[in-house]
Amino acid sequence: MPTTTARPVALPSCTSYAAPDPKRPVLTADVTVNGRSVVGTERFVFTPDLAVSELVLRLWAAAPVPSKYGSKQAVTSVTVDGSARTPRRTSPTVVTVPYSGAAGKRMTIDVGFTLTLPVGADERWGNRGTTSWFASGMPLLPWESGHGWDVEPATTQFAEASTSPEMRLDRLTVHHASGLAVLATGRTVGQNATTLVTSAPAVRDVAVAVGPFRLARSTGSTRAIVGVMSGLPDSASTIAQETQAHLKRHVARYGPFPYEQVSIVVLPDISGGIEYPGVIFMSTRQDRDATLSHELGHEWFYGLVGDDQARDPWLDEAFATMAEALDRGTASSYTPLAAVPAAVRGKAGEPMTYWEGRTYYFRGVYVQGAGALLRARATNPRLFDAQLRCYVAHNAHRIATPADVAKDLTVAVPALRNVGAIPR
Ligand SMILES: [Zn+2]
Repeated sequence: MPTTTARPVALPSCTSYAAPDPKRPVLTADVTVNGRSVVGTERFVFTPDLAVSELVLRLWAAAPVPSKYGSKQAVTSVTVDGSARTPRRTSPTVVTVPYSGAAGKRMTIDVGFTLTLPVGADERWGNRGTTSWFASGMPLLPWESGHGWDVEPATTQFAEASTSPEMRLDRLTVHHASGLAVLATGRTVGQNATTLVTSAPAVRDVAVAVGPFRLARSTGSTRAIVGVMSGLPDSASTIAQETQAHLKRHVARYGPFPYEQVSIVVLPDISGGIEYPGVIFMSTRQDRDATLSHELGHEWFYGLVGDDQARDPWLDEAFATMAEALDRGTASSYTPLAAVPAAVRGKAGEPMTYWEGRTYYFRGVYVQGAGALLRARATNPRLFDAQLRCYVAHNAHRIATPADVAKDLTVAVPALRNVGAIPR
């Protein structure tokens, strides 16, 4: 009797991440944090890959939601290659600077800025007493290689609308009152009672938290540091251990942790979590729900594989939600079609401008996108996981688009088309 053996599916094998762009911007920043006040300077050494007719900076702390809680952000000076330029505020979150230059021409941009942190905003900026935190708190250079400046408007959803290329963080210096701890993006390269200095080879944004934190550390696949604001009940050491457990499972699926360490900061006022490269802000007791796992998933999907969060919010949220579901064994809460309200079915790929003022952003993007990915995975988990690993490897250190997903994660294309994440 002839026997038939199922032919093994050829799985793609991607074992290492694409290297960071050698021409990525280099950022040097110096900030002084004192209660609600942040005053700083930053220097970008920037080589655009396209000709530019102006320079653009984004001031995300001046978006409508933090502004309602007293946030203010301003650019106080700009020089380009040593000569002063007059910055112009063209919208609350956009500053343009006169400049024109050819593709490939390197420039040095020096920016002075001030930031007044809001109080009581459920946001990435905040202050309570001597505890201060901010992320996307320094003017950002919203450059997308091959595309140009990203100037989409801010959103009033609990969401990001920013784009930023990866940068080499040459040096981040944080000055603060003595007696306080600092957790910030990057690896610590210098520290005394009132100053922390960090650096990082490739990060697309920076987060900083200063305060009277209870600290705990853990080591495993990566070094984790947890800071809990005094007065909050969370156990820093428990969260540090839980972080390792989540990371172990994420690393096994997507590849090595993209940064030299991760800091988790437990803060007041936030409900939910907010991801930044190597830093996560979250609220009290949120290691008990999906937040910690979800935000750690973003270190690959948003951090390592970047996206334009205003144009393609599903690219980071659907994948981080999928990561959280696989990590915690909760896929069944995302896969039923009934989990997505009829009004937003087929809208998973819509930009933040579509979601402005609409309900069901979470279910339309997070749940619908993750549901599609998880349904696709269920058809062939080994192929899905291998292809996903290739998507991460090929798009590491870049800003990905839905077309990049379609190219690598072919097993999920029909499901993603069905929910409107990838154009038909
Ligand atoms: Zn998220």
